[in-house]
This record gives sequence, C-alpha cells and structure tokens, in this order.
Amino acid sequence: MIASFLSTRGGSYGVSFEEAVLQGLAPDGGLFVPESIPSLPCDWNNWVDLSFEELAFEILTLYIPSTEIPHQFLKAIIHQAYASFRVPDVTPTITLDNERKIHLLELFHGPTFAFKDIALQFFGNLLEFFLERRNQTLQKAGQDREHYVVVGATSGDTGSAGIEGLRGKKDVSVFVLFPTGRVSSVQEAQMTTVPDANVHCLSVDGTFDDCQGLLKGLFADRSAMAPFNLTSINSINVSRILAQVTFYFASYFSLVRSGKFNPSSDQIKFSVPTGNFGDILAGFLAKRMGLPISQLIVATNENDILHRFWQTGTYEKLKSTGSNTHAGAVKETMSPAMDVLISSNFERLLWFLAYDVYGSEVDGEREKLQVASSMVRQWQAALKSEDRFSVEQKMLNAARAEFSSQRVSDAETLATIHDVYQWTGLKHYVLDPHSAIGVTAAIRSAEAAPSFHHVALSTAHPAKFSHAVELALSEEQGFLFSDILPPQLSVLEKLPRRVIHVKRRDGLDGVRKIIMEEVGKVTKT
Ligand SMILES: *Cc1c(COP(=O)(O)O)cnc(C)c1O
Repeated sequence: MIASFLSTRGGSYGVSFEEAVLQGLAPDGGLFVPESIPSLPCDWNNWVDLSFEELAFEILTLYIPSTEIPHQFLKAIIHQAYASFRVPDVTPTITLDNERKIHLLELFHGPTFAFKDIALQFFGNLLEFFLERRNQTLQKAGQDREHYVVVGATSGDTGSAGIEGLRGKKDVSVFVLFPTGRVSSVQEAQMTTVPDANVHCLSVDGTFDDCQGLLKGLFADRSAMAPFNLTSINSINVSRILAQVTFYFASYFSLVRSGKFNPSSDQIKFSVPTGNFGDILAGFLAKRMGLPISQLIVATNENDILHRFWQTGTYEKLKSTGSNTHAGAVKETMSPAMDVLISSNFERLLWFLAYDVYGSEVDGEREKLQVASSMVRQWQAALKSEDRFSVEQKMLNAARAEFSSQRVSDAETLATIHDVYQWTGLKHYVLDPHSAIGVTAAIRSAEAAPSFHHVALSTAHPAKFSHAVELALSEEQGFLFSDILPPQLSVLEKLPRRVIHVKRRDGLDGVRKIIMEEVGKVTKT
C-alpha cells in the first residue's frame, strides 16, 4: 500500500505526492508527511549490488505511486538528477579509522559541492516534470501555461544547490535572497555567476533572519504575487526528504560489499551534522522502513536547540541578548549551514513520535492521525506564544529510543579537522567544518560504544568553508588551501556576476516589485 500525504497539523489528508511537492508548505502551516512509512519488501537485501540510481528508484517507488509518476518517467527524473554528480557511486563511503570502525559518507560530489544537491537536483527535475505535464494539459484546453516562482532564503548552500537544480528549467523563475557580505566568497560566486536568465540573486542588506523574514512576508500574502504560483526551495519540501533516504541505504550496502560490515552480527549508528533536521529525518525514515540502524546521532553546533531537547525534553528558542533587535539571536559559528534557531523539520519527527505515543491510546486509524496532529498543534502554539514547549516523559523516551544527541563547539570542530588531517593511512584528509561536527560526535559515541560501526555524514566539500579549514590547518607544514580547491570552484572568481541589490528601505515591497518585473519579462512573450 502506498501512502498519500497529510499535514502535520491536521488540516489536509489524502494529498497526492504532486500536490505535496507543488505546495511545499501545507495551507495550515504544517509540513507534509507520508500517512504511513512503507516497509521494505522482504527481499530488500538483494538491493546490495544496485547502483545509486537503481536504489533511489526502489525506495522512491515505495512512496510515489506509478499512477502519479509512471515508472519510466521516475527513472528518467532520477537519472537526470544524479548524472550531474562527479563520481559514479554518487555518495561513496570511505573508512576514516578501521580500528575504531569510523566511516565517512561523502555527500558533496554534486554540482555545488554540498549535500543539498542530492535533494535539490531531484527536486528540480521533478518540478520540471510536473509543470510540463500540467502545462500540456492546460494548453490542450486552450489555457495559458502556469509559471512557478521559486524563492529561497539562504545562508549559502541552499541557494547555490537550489539554483543549480532549477537553472534553465522551463516555466520556472528562481529568486534567491542572501545577506550581503555574510555568505562565503565561494558561495556568493557560485550563486551569482550562473548565467541562466531564469535565475535571480538578491543581495539583501541585513542578516539571514532578515532574508527569511522577507520570504515569510512573500508567503503570507501569496495573492499579491498572483497570477504566479509561489513555492520554496527551503527544506520544507517533502520531496527533498524522500530523496535523501537513498544515501543511508547506499552507505549501508557499500559497507556490506566492502566486507568491513557483517550484516548478521555487526551494528551501525549514523552521526548527522544537523541544522533544520532534514538530513537526519531521512535517516529516521530509512530506519523505520526497516534498514537496521541502531541509532541516529543528532550532532549540533553551538546553536543547540535540538541537543537541549534530547537532554531535557524542552524545546526552547533562546532569547536574544544585548542590543540584538531580532526575535532571537542565532550564534554565528564555523558551521553556518547549521546556524538555526528553530529546526523546521523537527515538527515532522514530533508528528511521527506523537502518532506512536498518543495514537496507541486511541482506536481507529483516523483518530490516531488526528491525535498526533492535535499534539503537534499544541506544541507549535506554545512555541509561538512562549518560545518553548516541553513534552511528557513518554515522548522523550520515544525520542531517545532511536536518537541520541551531541553538541560540538567551534574549538572542537577545528580540533577535529586538525586531528583527522593527521590520521595515518588517509593522505591528509581535509574535513569541512560541518562534517567535522558529525565526525566529532561519532568519535565520542564510539568511545562509549566501541562495538558499533559509526558512519558520520560529510555534508560539504572543505573548499566551500576556507575560513575554518585555514584556521584549523594553518600550522601544518605543506598544507596549501589551493591544493584542495577544485577547478570548478576556482574558475568562478573570474566569471561575470549578476546580482540585484536590495536596500533596507526597499523592504518587502521592493522584493515583490523585483520579482513581478523579472517574471513579467519572461511570461509576456
Ligand atoms: C544544510 C546543511 C546541513 C544541515 O542539514 P539539515 O538537513 O538542515 O539538518 C549540514 N551541513 C551542510 C554543509 C549543509 O549545507
């Protein structure tokens, strides 16, 4: 049985995959989740020799009915998405330390050198497929084509990966808002040197929070954007989560094939550098489908709202300090892609856990779904009004049954980059700061539980975060940053840039005007 999708807040049920993807956020403010998590077929062990693409197909067909996307089209979408990766196995797993059984799942071999490519390459091709089909139907009926405006606020990685996934796509315009001077120079070059006419980068005077505020403003009044359909590349889109499930399987099978991991006797934990909880939520789906993962480790930086939740059962947004005028203050760390105040996909986990914990107390499938949503609404309301909520012990126990958490400081992040660089047998492996957080958490966990294999997820190429890497390795004789800078990134410096500057006083109206003007240019013709 293939599930349809529902909103975590209970406002929509029975939503098709296509609607869930095109809407992004549910109308009631909730996030779409599959109504039930599919189980693996009994012969799933035979997937061990499948390619990444074949594995993605097997997994995605458990969530997406062929009546919605016929199999040959889904295969083509997957193929297009992963053909852009630089290595044939897409997400290779390497071993960092044989003795301690610590491995690294490299997720940065896509076009923008960040793990977000895995989801956003799929999303871009999926969106193109849906729009093409809808517009063919509309045209046959003598109506105008639909145009989609995809917007995103970014502190770096989402913007470039989103742009790369959507550049040149028909009937789509993409607008990315980033804070002026606050993304790394490689990231800025990656976004602003893309020549495709449907890509627009807005450099906004302010912080990442200001960019997100503008984005929320656009969504709060979608009618002001009529007649265009508005959607977002941020990690609320359920298709992004589903696409990420594949690499947990790919990593597991890679270890089995290598002979390092014996599936009948060995046990495995995944350590995931976490910000918005999208990456690790995919691991949770993999685990619930039946992949034998013993535990998922939530690794945070000093923005540790999730770590504090696992320690205490209270999810609390930290108050702003000093002269900061924003609603709350994110601490700027060495791992900016994980600098979040509120972790958006955590709401999805809460729904699944509440379904188990409170759903077991009522009869009837519909009632179970509703009781989970009613709990989520209660927690979200408290979060909104009091900046915090606490869960009952039984919910916390459920969260602890499948996850643990670790908080890693900037100093520890740099120390791990430095240490791993010196590990023997690795030829001076250089971790990026986000990956270093996952590795630090894996090392700690391996100290406490040495019998387990640990796979840390590596979410970015070190060249994207030169500042931290240079700080960590500056004392190393023979380390030259230029040696790790891939040619695809070094050429960007020389390319012409296109960027629209948004001044503070331009505000939301200014952003809206820019979008209407740019989209008007392409839809009039
Ligand atoms: C987005 C990102 C993360 C965090 O992933 P979430 O799905 O938001 O938890 C970690 N590292 C890098 C490099 C990222 O770009």
